[in-house]
Formats: sequence, C-alpha cells, structure tokens
Amino acid sequence: MMNEYDVIVIGAGPAGLSCARFSRKLNPRWRILIIRRQKKSIIPCALPYALDGTIKTDDCIKSDEKLLRSANIDLVIDEVESISCEDNSLAAKSGKSFGYNNLVLATGSFPFVPPIPGANLKNVFSIKDHPDILSILEIVEDVRKAVVVGAGFIGLELVNAFYNRGIEVNLVEMESVCLPQNLSSDFSENIKKDLEARGVKLFLGKVLKEIKGEEKVKECILDDGTKIEADLVVLSVGVRADVSLAQKSGIDVTQKGIKVNEYFQTNIQNIYAVGDCVSGKSFITGKPMNGFLATNAVVEGKFAAMNIAGKKRPFAGIINPAVTKIFDLSCGAAGFTRDAAEKEGLRFLSSDTEVYSREKSFPGAVPLKMRLIFDRDTLTLIGAEALSKENVSWIINMLSLAILNKNNARELAFMQYCGHPPQIDVPAKMPIVLCAVDVLKQAKEL
Ligand SMILES: Cc1cc2nc3c(=O)[nH]c(=O)nc-3n(C[C@H](O)[C@H](O)[C@H](O)COP(=O)(O)OP(=O)(O)OC[C@H]3O[C@@H](n4cnc5c(N)ncnc54)[C@H](O)[C@@H]3O)c2cc1C
Repeated sequence: MMNEYDVIVIGAGPAGLSCARFSRKLNPRWRILIIRRQKKSIIPCALPYALDGTIKTDDCIKSDEKLLRSANIDLVIDEVESISCEDNSLAAKSGKSFGYNNLVLATGSFPFVPPIPGANLKNVFSIKDHPDILSILEIVEDVRKAVVVGAGFIGLELVNAFYNRGIEVNLVEMESVCLPQNLSSDFSENIKKDLEARGVKLFLGKVLKEIKGEEKVKECILDDGTKIEADLVVLSVGVRADVSLAQKSGIDVTQKGIKVNEYFQTNIQNIYAVGDCVSGKSFITGKPMNGFLATNAVVEGKFAAMNIAGKKRPFAGIINPAVTKIFDLSCGAAGFTRDAAEKEGLRFLSSDTEVYSREKSFPGAVPLKMRLIFDRDTLTLIGAEALSKENVSWIINMLSLAILNKNNARELAFMQYCGHPPQIDVPAKMPIVLCAVDVLKQAKEL
C-alpha cells in the first residue's frame, strides 16, 4: 500500500528542510514527507571548523529529527531511485514507494573532482559531508604537509584549519588571485599577503596536473612542472548540481542544473526543484548563474513552498551574498564585485572607502574597507565588497537588501542610520553613505 503525501521533499540539506518546514507553516493539515539518504543532516558550512577543533565534529550534525517530529513532518532515511511523473509516485532503494501531490527535488550538489591522474589515491579528499571530515581527522595527526587545491571561500577556510593544526600548507589556484569568484583582486590581495606572511605557500595561476604516490599521495605536480610534497590533498575546486535523479525521470536539466521557472517549477507542473541542484539566475542580469550557497537554498525552499501553497510568488534571482573569515580578516560581497562587473562588460561606477570599524580611539577599532558598485545609467546598486578585521556580515546583509530593493545612490547617500562610537565609526563616516555620495559626484549629480 503506497503512502500518499501532499508534499514530498527529496533531500534534507538547507533547501529541503527549509521547504518542508515552510510548507508546514503555510498549511497545518498537509501530509509532508522528507526523504533523505543520510542518517543525519549536517551543517555543511561548519565542516572546516571541525578540522582544527574550533567546534566538535558532532556540532556539524543537525539534530533535526525532533524538530521535524514537532512540526509533524515525516522523515524517511532512504534513497529515491526513480520518479514516475505520470502516476505521481516515486520508488526508493528499500523497495518502498510513495505517492505525492507535489514533489520537491532538493538533491543538492557533489564536489567536482578534476579528471587527473592520482585523484583517487588515498589521502586525497573532497569536503562535502560529515564522513569526509571524520576521514581526514583519522589521518591528520600524521600529516606534515597539506595541499589545498582551490582558493575559494571553502579552500581558504581549509588552509586556515590545517595551519592552525601546525601543518605546512600549500595552496594551488588556477587563477592568479585568491577568492577569484568572491572578491576583486585588490581586496583579495590583503588576504594573499596575510597568508604569505604566515608562511602559507601560494601557487597562484597554476593548475594541478597530477597527484603522485603509490598507495597514498606523495606529491602534486603542477602545469609548470612544480612538484609539491604532500601527505594530504584536498580538492576544493567547486561543486556540480546533482541532477541524476531528475535527468533519468524525464525532468529538464541544463549544464548548470535542473531547469526551473521563477516559481521553482520544473517542466512537470507539480514537481519543483530548489537549492544547489537547480540552474539559478542572476537577479541583476537575468542570466543563468549558480550560487551554491546555503543561504540561497533556504530562501529558494521558502519560495517553492509559497508557490505550492498557491501563494504565487515569483523569484527574481540570486545575488550570492557571502562572507568568510580567513585568519584575522573578514571579507564578503553581494551582487557584482568590481572585477566581475568589468568581466561581464557592465557599465558601472564604483567607489571605495576606508573608515574604522568603530570610532578610532575605541578599543578594537580597525580599518574597514568597502566598495559599492552602481549601474552607470540608473545609479542602482549592483554590488558591494567589504574587508576588515572586524565582522563585515552586517554590511553585506544590509547591502544585499539594498540590491534586492534596487536602491540607488541617491537613496543610499541620504539614508538614515544608527551611530555609537564603541560599535561603529562616527556618523560622518558611514561607509555606505560615503561611497554613494562619491558616486553621485562621479555622475555629476552633486
Ligand atoms: C565545506 C563547506 C562549507 C560551506 N560554507 C558555506 C557558508 O559558509 N555559507 C553558505 O551559504 N554556504 C556554504 N556552503 C554551501 C552550502 O553548504 C550548500 O550551498 C548547501 O548545502 C546547499 O543546500 P541544498 O539543500 O541545496 O543541498 P545539499 O546540502 O547538498 O543537500 C542535498 C541532500 O539531498 C540528498 N539527496 C540527493 N539525492 C537524493 C536521493 N535520490 N534520495 C535521497 N536523498 C538525496 C543528499 O544526500 C544531500 O543530503 C558550504 C559548503 C561546504 C561543503
């Protein structure tokens, strides 16, 4: 006898959980089921911090069973193997089948492993799930030299963690800068200098060509012939949308992920897809773009729930707000960085400023660099970057809202804000206002 549900969600990452829980908020009577492969859900963003003991490995596990039970959401640990779109049912590995009125694919992503010799050697890892961290921790005591491949946020967080363990760290990145997707090169230069000053060996503008070893990894060979000795290699070179289930079920996919409309509906009317598994769209240009962020996944899950509930709400696209902290430096961006805007060929004006994180005579005050990027014609905010030894997430969050609200320089130059010397620089040095005023001057509006 098949169980029937109003909503079935496949995957219990940030997207799936958010969709199921928001669906419950919207309809107390719906029968809702989550099917997930893993015994436990995790907090992926916390994984790097379990490597150096900042948190315990168990702290990366999300105890969501109680939460789901209290929300009256059923949970089945199983793997969905096929979907029959014609009769609204799915079949799982265990042999069970489930019927649905609405189905949500939240199947996430998997790490990309470059097709190079040696990528399958022992002690070569990718990081996506809790067992990956446990496997590294099993051998880490014997590791003297590590190679991290990929200088994105996750790669740098891993560099930081291995360094904290006293391991010699080498960082390989094919672009000539750190954080090539996340910050403009002059901002990320601060991070690069800080890494070099700590003795992290950087191999920028170099491509990993081969990993050598007998059973275990021994060395990495780069495209210019450089050899780096290594007891451990972590490949952190991006992820790919997991579209396998969708694809074999006749759901349209593109190279970037499952194809969805602005309501997160696939080509099958009652099948939705959210999170890392979908092909995203830029809020600013409307072009296809992926985010691979937990924050995007959570928001998308809520939008899908709204649309399933008939509260039609189109999603305008992603701006990928993201922050991290590498050693002492917090950095982040939302929308277009200046470098990305240039690469995209956008017509823009940008302005940089440097203030203090608090009034400069107060304890803890450190420089805070900020850049705003505006569309040249409309002066609408299209991007923001920030860097400081103090937390910059408040700035990135606030500017994310301004980008989504399509605020322009005229509005931001005259915005109202709070002030308090121990917490923020003096009112005359509100960095958002300083940049917006500068852009108005550049546009000859002042
Ligand atoms: C180390 C690391 C650090 C990160 N740091 C950040 C950060 O600081 N901030 C941020 O915003 N993002 C961060 N991210 C990215 C973030 O984790 C992802 O964007 C997010 O997890 C995507 O959520 P999701 O629900 O779409 O997919 P996932 O989290 O990938 O979850 C998908 C789930 O679906 C399950 N599944 C797939 N197919 C099936 C099937 N057929 N049957 C049953 N279950 C299935 C999978 O097993 C998986 O558990 C980080 C990622 C990593 C790996």
